[in-house]
Amino acid sequence: MLPQNKRPPDIGEYVAASSVDAAIDALADGQGTALAGGTDLWAQKDSGNGRLRQRLVNISRVSELCGIAEVAGKIRIGALTTISEILESPLLNEKVPLLPQMANRFAAPQIRNAATIGGNIANASPAADAVLPLIGLGTSVELRSKRETRFLPLSGFFKGPGNTQMTADELITAIEFETPPGNFHGVFCKSGPRPALEISMVAMCLTGLLEGGKLSNPRLVFGAVGPTPICCEKTEAMIDGKTISDDLIASALDLMATEIAPIDDFRASKWYRTQMARTFLEAELIACR
Ligand SMILES: Cc1cc2nc3c(=O)[nH]c(=O)nc-3n(C[C@H](O)[C@H](O)[C@H](O)COP(=O)(O)OP(=O)(O)OC[C@H]3O[C@@H](n4cnc5c(N)ncnc54)[C@H](O)[C@@H]3O)c2cc1C
Repeated sequence: MLPQNKRPPDIGEYVAASSVDAAIDALADGQGTALAGGTDLWAQKDSGNGRLRQRLVNISRVSELCGIAEVAGKIRIGALTTISEILESPLLNEKVPLLPQMANRFAAPQIRNAATIGGNIANASPAADAVLPLIGLGTSVELRSKRETRFLPLSGFFKGPGNTQMTADELITAIEFETPPGNFHGVFCKSGPRPALEISMVAMCLTGLLEGGKLSNPRLVFGAVGPTPICCEKTEAMIDGKTISDDLIASALDLMATEIAPIDDFRASKWYRTQMARTFLEAELIACR
């Protein structure tokens, strides 16, 4: 049993929000915890991580937070959209297959049916899979509170494991990114003992505009090799718009290895994570040629 000071507070109040306004009212004093699919929140209930506050605000019936749509050149995905909905979305399969590709490697159907995109972001796990392609797509997060509505770039959203720029009174309502152009190239790679139903040991997303074997405006993001998703900005600058020669690949792999910060833990060693990161990047740069 957890020591007294680590135990979650008793849930004193339960609010079943029926609208965004009702949800942000219930979160306004910073004493509430949003409950979406519950696949992280419930699993962590007894971990002593302090996520579960004394008022549980169930947002899972708020229809305003659902749906995937393209409006004025942007794709908007409601925070309650599940991983299964991403996998099956005709719009995403046509215009952003990178996201269904990620969803196909995420957990198993039972979890995908409950797990939401907002929960994956707010939970701020260094191994959160959906976050990597979303950063690769240049996503902004829409946050609402009683005070304001604001948009933050997802790339700078994470401060550490379980820690984000979001304050306790805020709700993620949606995410948005520009509809990628026809020459957009995006790949998601993930390693673990099984193809899915697996917390990533290493995950990578590489995006950019692919033209004549050159990748311009690349974004290279790794998961599970640092306390937050890691954007390898120096490596991106090195490959931006260049012919992808063997020499460039070798230099990019070495530079990338200095930008990630893997650790040894029970899932994988630092050495293994570094080798997997190199293997993923090498394979995907070769595939761009
Ligand atoms: C067996 C299993 C397998 C898994 N496999 C994977 C995997 O392959 N890849 C992966 O990335 N994850 C995986 N997960 C983790 C989890 O399923 C995901 O992170 C999921 O997206 C969380 O969403 P949720 O709706 O269940 O969040 P919840 O558990 O409801 O909430 C998680 C956290 O986010 C907060 N929150 C939720 N929604 C909002 C919102 N709209 N605004 C503000 N705060 C919010 C909650 O307060 C809580 O702190 C797995 C989990 C399990 C149990």
